[in-house]
Amino acid sequence: IFAHIFSQMIIVKTKEEIELMREAALVVSKTLGEVAKAVKPGVTTLELDKIAETCIRDQGAIPGFLGLYDFPNTLCMSPNSQVVHGIPNDTPLVEGDIISIDCGAIKNGFYGDHAYTFPIGEIAQETEQLLKVTKESLYVGIKEFKLGNRVGDVGYAIQKYCEDHGYGVVRELVGHGLGRKMHEDPEMPNYGKRGRGKKFIEGMVVAIEPMINLGTQRIKQHRDGWTITTLDGKPSAHFEHDVAIVDGKPELLSTFAYIYEALGITSDEENNFRQKALVL
Ligand code: MG
Ligand code: MG
Repeated sequence: IFAHIFSQMIIVKTKEEIELMREAALVVSKTLGEVAKAVKPGVTTLELDKIAETCIRDQGAIPGFLGLYDFPNTLCMSPNSQVVHGIPNDTPLVEGDIISIDCGAIKNGFYGDHAYTFPIGEIAQETEQLLKVTKESLYVGIKEFKLGNRVGDVGYAIQKYCEDHGYGVVRELVGHGLGRKMHEDPEMPNYGKRGRGKKFIEGMVVAIEPMINLGTQRIKQHRDGWTITTLDGKPSAHFEHDVAIVDGKPELLSTFAYIYEALGITSDEENNFRQKALVL
């Protein structure tokens, strides 16, 4: 989300509220898992949007983006050089594309917010590497979201990891606090300086979401008022998790497990960030 839409107060959550938020995070996780089953050449982003809306409502939840700041759909769908906030349409995805899918939902009065960039069939090797590194940078950032650290520690870690690979870290778009509102304080930039910014406290919940470009960090906004693309037309990737601070440590509320199940991927990347076993 753009860095200017913020209040100025961190709203901490109780352990009970964090469990309610975990349910919201699992709604969007499960929804992206359902979408993942259908992400293939020939499918349109509008068709995927319908799958997501049905899946969210079937779980007794409400699409979180639909109508938020007047966004017209359930999912943000951003193919190839689109960074985020793309609007679903009836153009079929084709082999070699990538598609960044961002999903929000409200359950128990709380928001879940979750994103993943999918390859469509075989993709260029440099793009595959971009997806891999961007997802790795998400966990590099999550690791720093703990008691004693500050906002700048997460941003620094993500920026360093991605820039060391030669990628552009988008500046205008940031992660955010999450709760009864989709965008709460603090802003969580994917760049920053160690030891700077707001201090992390017990019970904070944030969405950490690196938006990383293969080429330049610079972006432009389209006339539709939503779609953001890279200035040089090169691909961009986006991965997002919801994370709480529980007993001083980062606790993952969302999971890519449903996506991995759909795609036949095995991974232990989330294990270090979960204090109790994931029940799907
Ligand atoms: Mg999101
Ligand atoms: Mg977000």
